[in-house]
Amino acid sequence: MAERLTIIGSGPAGLTAAIYAARANINPLLFEGFQTGGIPGGQLMITNVVENFPGFPEGIMGPQLMAQMREQAVKHGTRMVMEDIIEVDLKKRPFILTTSGGDTYETEAVIIASGATARRLPLESEKKLWGKGISACAVCDGALPVFRNKDLAVIGGGDTAIEEALHLTQFASKVYLIHRRDELRASNVMQKRIKMHEKIEILWNKVVEEFCGDSQLTCLKLKDIKDGTISELSVVGAFEAIGHIPNTGFLKDQLEVAEVGYLKTVAGSTRTNVEGVFAAGDVQDSNYRQAITAAGSGCMAAIEAERWLHQQER
Ligand code: NAP
Repeated sequence: MAERLTIIGSGPAGLTAAIYAARANINPLLFEGFQTGGIPGGQLMITNVVENFPGFPEGIMGPQLMAQMREQAVKHGTRMVMEDIIEVDLKKRPFILTTSGGDTYETEAVIIASGATARRLPLESEKKLWGKGISACAVCDGALPVFRNKDLAVIGGGDTAIEEALHLTQFASKVYLIHRRDELRASNVMQKRIKMHEKIEILWNKVVEEFCGDSQLTCLKLKDIKDGTISELSVVGAFEAIGHIPNTGFLKDQLEVAEVGYLKTVAGSTRTNVEGVFAAGDVQDSNYRQAITAAGSGCMAAIEAERWLHQQER
């Protein structure tokens, strides 16, 4: 028997879709991947305090919020499978989904809520020293003993970079924010916080040319993009915060994409170009990328999937 609705992804979009679909008696099956798109729960699992999710005036820890959403989805009857979907066949009906364990599932409708993954700098030296002083998550790694009371760097100029830099000030002696332009992309409120912080120094118009060190990061070679000069910055930790890439590899070009690989949906809806396939959360959102907007689109996807299934079944 084919599933009626399968949800791929366990971040705010996937879990909200699951809560709505379960409450609508659709009996959804949800895949929480743990290899390709990060750990179950998505990006909030590597976030510290979430201050802007409505309903939590004192803020809530990202992992706690996700644990509560998951509990709510399960309580209403969502069935969870902890495996990555590595391939889909959207040309056949029912659709066929293949897991990393080699199992296949058939499903009438699917909600893709597979999120996005942190982008990395394409440098050989970065690959070599990854995990040896280089990380994409200050909240996960910043408190490690190796970084305590040392000079650290964050690369990027968006809200994430600023959040990471502020977080690191708890442990570091100094935090350098390395940005490739002379203006930050981050929101005004975040800009104000970082510019006022005595432990943070912003290095403008700089890009990383090389990460130096043999078995552990020791310095960064920086290039000034205005005058081309190269300088060395001694740091033992570097945290990349240069944006995200949508997790769409398993779809193998079967759905239309918009800007830089984000799934394309019909304006004002979560419908993709294949009937019965809906997309919610960061995998289709290059603009807002917030937990609350992801949750909102997950709700939309569940309602649209429910209506679509009823139409088919009539
Ligand atoms: P983002 O806004 O896309 O910023 C990425 C930053 O990395 C930009 O400053 C960009 O530089 C830089 N960058 C990109 N590629 C680079 C490269 N190859 N080398 C050097 N620098 C590079 O990503 P984000 O900061 O992860 O934020 C994503 C979304 O989440 C945003 O909508 C943001 O508002 C939201 N967010 C909100 C909060 C909050 O409200 N507390 C916290 C985190 C994230 P350019 O500026 O030159 O393009």
